[in-house]
Amino acid sequence: MSAGVVIAGGGLAAQRCAEALRHGGYEGAIKIVSNELHVPYNRPPLSKALLAGTKEPDDVLFRSADWSAEQGIELLLGDGAAGLDVERRKLLLESGAQLDYDDLVIATGSRARQLPGSEQYTNIHSLRTLGDAIRLREVLQPGTRLAVLGAGLIGQEVAATAIGHGAEVTLIEAEPLPLARALHPELAQWLVDLQREEGVEVKLDARATELIGDGDRLQALLLDDGSRVELDEMLVAIGVIPNSEWLPDELALLAARPDIHAAGDVAGGDHWELAGHQGKAAAKAILGQAPAPPPFTGWWSDLHGVRLQGLGAPAANDEIVFKGNPAERDFHAVVSRDGVPVAALAVGQPREIPRLRKLLAEHALSQPSKEAA
Ligand SMILES: Cc1cc2nc3c(=O)[nH]c(=O)nc-3n(C[C@H](O)[C@H](O)[C@H](O)COP(=O)(O)OP(=O)(O)OC[C@H]3O[C@@H](n4cnc5c(N)ncnc54)[C@H](O)[C@@H]3O)c2cc1C
Repeated sequence: MSAGVVIAGGGLAAQRCAEALRHGGYEGAIKIVSNELHVPYNRPPLSKALLAGTKEPDDVLFRSADWSAEQGIELLLGDGAAGLDVERRKLLLESGAQLDYDDLVIATGSRARQLPGSEQYTNIHSLRTLGDAIRLREVLQPGTRLAVLGAGLIGQEVAATAIGHGAEVTLIEAEPLPLARALHPELAQWLVDLQREEGVEVKLDARATELIGDGDRLQALLLDDGSRVELDEMLVAIGVIPNSEWLPDELALLAARPDIHAAGDVAGGDHWELAGHQGKAAAKAILGQAPAPPPFTGWWSDLHGVRLQGLGAPAANDEIVFKGNPAERDFHAVVSRDGVPVAALAVGQPREIPRLRKLLAEHALSQPSKEAA
C-alpha cells in the first residue's frame, strides 16, 4: 500500500495543499501533522477581528474536523515533526512515532522572534497563535497601557485594534519609518500619520535599551532616545523565525528532491497569498501537473476601519504618483522605478487591486531578468 502524502505543519499552506490534492483527484492517504491542538486556522483575523472581539476561535478555522474526516485527511494534532530520514522516506515525530511518506510537504511556518532578556515577564506577549490572540484580548481593557515593540504589519494592526478596546498605545519602531520593504517612504509616513490621528503614540528611530520590571511584571521600557515608556502590557512584534530547525539539511537542498516540497512562511515568505499559492503548487507537483503561473502576490491589512492592500517591493528613491484623497483615506498610489511600475498601494479602494496587479505583472514580465541583463 502506498504511504501517501505527509504534510508537516498545519497552517494555511498545509490546508491549501490538502484541499488541492483532493480537488485534483488524489486518492491516496493525506496526513497533516501539526504541533498545535487546533485544526488548521486562519491567522490574519488574530490581529484584527478576533483580537477586536468580533470573531471567536470557531470563526477562524479553515474547515471543521468533520470536513477533514469526510475528505479522508487525517489530522495528527499536538505532535511535531522532529526529524527526517530522506533515504527511507520517514518523518520522525516528537512523540517518537515515524510516518512513511511517498511525498512530504514541509509547511511548518514561522514563529515570533522573542526579545532577549524578557523571559521572566508574564505581561510580554507575542502574536502568532490563536492562544496568543486570546491571551492578548483578555488583557486589553479601557485604559490598559500597551507598548508595541516593532511597527511591522502585526504591530500596526495590534496597535489599531487595541485603540478600539480603549487602550493607551505606544508603538515603537527602530527604523526612521516603518515597513520599508513594503511601503514607499511617503506611504509609510501616511501610515504613521494615520496611527497618530487615531491616538496611537508612535516613536520612530527608537530602540529599547533597558527593561525595567518588578518580579514577573515588566513595568517600563527605556529607549535610546532617552524616553521612558510606562506600560501594563507589551507586545513584541519584531519579526519571525522560520520553523526549520527540525530539518536535517538546508530547506532548499531538501526541496530539490522530487519527493519533498516546501510551502509557506518556512520557505521565506510572510504573506497569506503566497503561502496559499505555494501550498497549491506543492499539490500540483505531487499530482504531476504543471504549476499555475506564480501570481503577483500581495498583502493586506485592516487598520482603524480602513483596508490597505499592497503589491510589489518599493525602494526609497522610487517615484510615486497618488490618485484619490489620502487625507480621506481613499486613494491608491503607484510606485515606479525608471518609469516602470514596481509597487502599488490601495487604501479603501479594493476595486483598484485587480487592475494594479495586472499592471505590475505585465511590467514584471516585460522586464529583462537580472541574469539576462
Ligand atoms: C497575527 C497575524 C496576522 C497576519 N495578517 C496577515 C494579513 O493581514 N495579510 C497577509 O498577507 N498575511 C498576514 N499574516 C501572515 C499569514 O498569516 C502567514 O503568511 C500564513 O499564515 C503562513 O502560512 P503557513 O502555513 O506557511 O504557516 P503557519 O500559518 O504559521 O502554519 C504553520 C503551522 O505549522 C505548525 N508547526 C510549526 N513547527 C512544526 C513542527 N515541527 N511540526 C509540526 N507542526 C509545526 C505551526 O504551529 C503552525 O500551526 C498574518 C500572520 C499573523 C501571525
